[in-house]
Amino acid sequence: MKDRILSLCERFEPKFIKMRRALHAIPEASFKESKTQAKISSYLRSAGIDHRRTPGSTGVLGFIRGGGTGNVALRSDMDALNIMERTGLPFASHHPGFMHACGHDAHMAIILGAALVLKHVGKDLPGNVRLIFQPAEETSPGGALTMIRAGALRSPRVGAVLGLHVDPVIKVGKVAVNPGFISAAADEFRIAITGKGGHGSSPHKSVDAVMVAADFITSLQTVVSRRVSPMDSVVVSIGRISGGEKSNIIAERVDMEGTVRTKTAEMRRRVPAMITKVLRATCSAYGAKGEFKLVKGYPPAFCDPGLSALVTSACSDILGRSRTTTSPGLEMGGEDFAYYAERVPGVVIFVGVGNGAKGKTHLLHHSRFDIDEGALRVGVAALAYSAYRYLKEGRGKSDDTGR
Ligand SMILES: [Zn+2]
Ligand SMILES: [Zn+2]
Repeated sequence: MKDRILSLCERFEPKFIKMRRALHAIPEASFKESKTQAKISSYLRSAGIDHRRTPGSTGVLGFIRGGGTGNVALRSDMDALNIMERTGLPFASHHPGFMHACGHDAHMAIILGAALVLKHVGKDLPGNVRLIFQPAEETSPGGALTMIRAGALRSPRVGAVLGLHVDPVIKVGKVAVNPGFISAAADEFRIAITGKGGHGSSPHKSVDAVMVAADFITSLQTVVSRRVSPMDSVVVSIGRISGGEKSNIIAERVDMEGTVRTKTAEMRRRVPAMITKVLRATCSAYGAKGEFKLVKGYPPAFCDPGLSALVTSACSDILGRSRTTTSPGLEMGGEDFAYYAERVPGVVIFVGVGNGAKGKTHLLHHSRFDIDEGALRVGVAALAYSAYRYLKEGRGKSDDTGR
């Protein structure tokens, strides 16, 4: 099967590239991916793959029936970013102000490519493959929950989800699999400190919100440095602050916004409580009032260790051991793949797209970001063969309760 998949990858490589370029040219904002949806649908139709557009959103769910009862899903995101593309590519964005700067064009082409390859494997595929093309990864709340509500993991029940993300830090030809957390929970918070305004010359008759805010921000740093174990990865940052009117007026109110990044459910619950405690204590010491509001973002994305081992072994088998590594992944970034991986075992394969010799060195979300297209074939082989190996091991049966 390995050789069969490799030869199908070689045969269809020009198609993978064509699909990626066509999708690259029509970048669309989160939840507005209607042209992208139509294009995916037309590729699947011409490959004879069953699919449906998800009602009320721009997603697509596909299904490839093989010769067994197990079920595995392959997931791609679809959205682009508000960035003016400066790559100068002949197939650059036709939509001014929008760009596929996070490589989601490549993700779609790789999942479409894997679908094409697995469709050709046909009845020799020891199970079924669900295809998930999901809108809005770049915004919170993302499109993953919309797809789950539309039945992405049901009927038949999916045993595992495989996703991917391109990585310009990894050289083309290589992939990386990281068991455990690959992204952080990304929650935001808003704080308002209210004191009592007054004349700048009479601070003793006022409650200076600027001074309380300054003391609070300094104390806030002790949450991570003194209350969280050094073994837990936590980030607390204040990114915006505003308050006061004029040099000779004691400020009545200061507003702040910040972000909390955590990797475990426990820290995700505890850190906001610690922030609130510091805020209350600081405000009460000065007679000010503090308000705290948490705005929840994506949960942390966890790659199942057992499934990671299977995918690592499949990738080493089809690409070679030296081409299968681990990487720091998305570090403290957010990724809504987390919502699938909370429900069934999931793994994200990081596909190397960097190539210094060809100038493919720009990082994700950069206006000159581009991939070495040799990565498409590598990604298709990794995804298609990992799905095959999962089904071949008899996993993902509908009666399998999973995790
Ligand atoms: Zn992104
Ligand atoms: Zn992305």
